[in-house]
Amino acid sequence: MERESLEMDVVFVGAGPANLSAAFHLARLVREHDEAATKEMGTGGGGQATGKPLGEIQIAVIEKGASIGAHILSGAVMDPRGLAELIPDFEAQGAPLESPVKEDQFLYLTPKHAIRSPINPPPLNNHGYYIVSLNRLTAWLGEKCEEAGVNIFPEFPGAEMLYDADDRVVGVRTGDKGIDKEGKRKANFEPGIDLFAKVTVLGEGVRGSLTKKLIQRLGLDEGREPQVYSLGVKELWELPDDRYPAGRVTHTLGFPSDQWTYGGGWIYGMQNRVLNLGYVTGLDYRDPLIDPHSEFQRFKTHPLLAKLLDGGKMIRYGAKAIAAGGWHAMPKMYADGVLIVGDSAGFLNAARLKGIHSAIKSGMLAAETIFEALLAEDFSASKLESYERRVKESWITPELRRYRNFHAGFRHGRWLGMANAGLQYITGGRAWGILDRDHQEPGHEALRKLSAYGYQGDNAGQRYQDLRFDGKLTFNKVTDVYHATVAHDEDQPAHLHVLDTNICATRCAEEYGNPCQRFCPAAVYEMVEMSEPSAVAGGHSSCRQLQINFSNCVHCKTCDIMDPYQIINWVTPEGGGGPDYKGM
Ligand SMILES: Cc1cc2nc3c(=O)[nH]c(=O)nc-3n(C[C@H](O)[C@H](O)[C@H](O)COP(=O)(O)OP(=O)(O)OC[C@H]3O[C@@H](n4cnc5c(N)ncnc54)[C@H](O)[C@@H]3O)c2cc1C
Repeated sequence: MERESLEMDVVFVGAGPANLSAAFHLARLVREHDEAATKEMGTGGGGQATGKPLGEIQIAVIEKGASIGAHILSGAVMDPRGLAELIPDFEAQGAPLESPVKEDQFLYLTPKHAIRSPINPPPLNNHGYYIVSLNRLTAWLGEKCEEAGVNIFPEFPGAEMLYDADDRVVGVRTGDKGIDKEGKRKANFEPGIDLFAKVTVLGEGVRGSLTKKLIQRLGLDEGREPQVYSLGVKELWELPDDRYPAGRVTHTLGFPSDQWTYGGGWIYGMQNRVLNLGYVTGLDYRDPLIDPHSEFQRFKTHPLLAKLLDGGKMIRYGAKAIAAGGWHAMPKMYADGVLIVGDSAGFLNAARLKGIHSAIKSGMLAAETIFEALLAEDFSASKLESYERRVKESWITPELRRYRNFHAGFRHGRWLGMANAGLQYITGGRAWGILDRDHQEPGHEALRKLSAYGYQGDNAGQRYQDLRFDGKLTFNKVTDVYHATVAHDEDQPAHLHVLDTNICATRCAEEYGNPCQRFCPAAVYEMVEMSEPSAVAGGHSSCRQLQINFSNCVHCKTCDIMDPYQIINWVTPEGGGGPDYKGM
């Protein structure tokens, strides 16, 4: 197939806070350098001290969403440290901030009561931080990039990495457009473009589809702990009055999670009486009947939440995975021609549920590394290695090392996990006060079989028998997905590749009761009764088959992470498809 190709200097895959900060900072470094070099040459310095101007450096950011920010979902309480380094006068420049944090509280929820902790756990101390809609903040960063001369291409998913004969990354191929569900070209067919670059930066967020393949291909996770994840499910509500002021931050522990399931809730007050609430469930839960969306719905039935939401209206919905493995689960972040930034590299601090500040900082450090590589005209792994050195010398490292064993401790249940977290805080991150590194298994391996819980037959619903979706306080997945404004052209191949669907009705049904129907927060996976002609003339027999409602997909990546057989591969759909997380 004939493909167009474009030669860029640097290509950033994914327009999240990490990559937009990187692109913006790089454009600024190049501009400042060129101004200084030109000035020096003008005064007869001959470019000796500063070096030659770099000239026109082509920087591109590609994004799979229809617009910048469309696929961005977060909490979010932002530690402003990263943004203040990137744009020191960010407030004066009009960064969209909902509110400074004015009040912090931490509650332990029993099924009926909410017990307020007299002290806030130190990692959840949000004094001096801001509540933000990361969707809006990201769109604003996108505008800053464009003003700085960065080329931004929404609706362009990175579909494949491009390698040379020596396995050096040389760019990225964007996805084809206009392929029908049978895989045939439609009238509007447009082949993807080969974007060649001296350096490609992967900032795809959590469980990046290209990052996953790159890590596997180049063995970048060798000697590291496996990455583990959580899933955050979130709604925005319009409240009828000022009962929950902008700037109030509440975190909860306890109800509805059982003590073997890592989980907790958040409630943030935004502007204009909008309440932002969500629930995080560890994607290393054991009970195969757990449904993170139902956990969140049940969270809202707690008397405290039900009262808070009474008379309000749910206006937005979304869900996204969170990389929770921390320091020990971070892969090698560089190779020939490529760097990995932000959540794709696991920079998130799970104890604080914060990753925006470190995503921005990692992007800035990547930009400084690339700038140096451009000056030296050397894009090899040995040159790009200095990115990891920069990370180690920055404030990111002490922060992440302090919580390096946080998530792993919860494998032993909530109370030992909490005790371990407290010990780590005192010992500077040691697990159980002694170990530098606690081992954690990949989350899907923690999932137990139905038989281990004594579940029999078709158990779907057993765990949530008492949960009703009343359409006022609690919503089923389909209603919620409607509020994520998801759109995919249905006449395209499914972007969720199940490598062996024979397992679904047999082994998976028996062993785990088809958990994809539950762990997916968007009702993408459904086991349906199918009728097919039988051996008897005119007769029909029925069987259960997996139906993939891919057009519901909110790009959270949970299926790729949590499938017990690891046979679901999430790949990018046609550009522009997916949720529209306006205001989230
Ligand atoms: C529920 C939840 C709550 C959170 N709460 C907080 C909080 O309160 N405070 C905080 O600091 N952090 C919070 N975080 C974490 C924070 O959102 C992330 O750390 C941060 O967004 C990471 O930025 P990023 O740029 O690495 O990735 P992302 O923000 O995920 O951005 C990645 C971008 O890349 C695009 N992309 C992905 N793959 C491709 C591809 N192949 N081609 C083209 N584009 C692609 C995506 O569409 C997306 O726009 C939360 C996260 C979640 C999920």
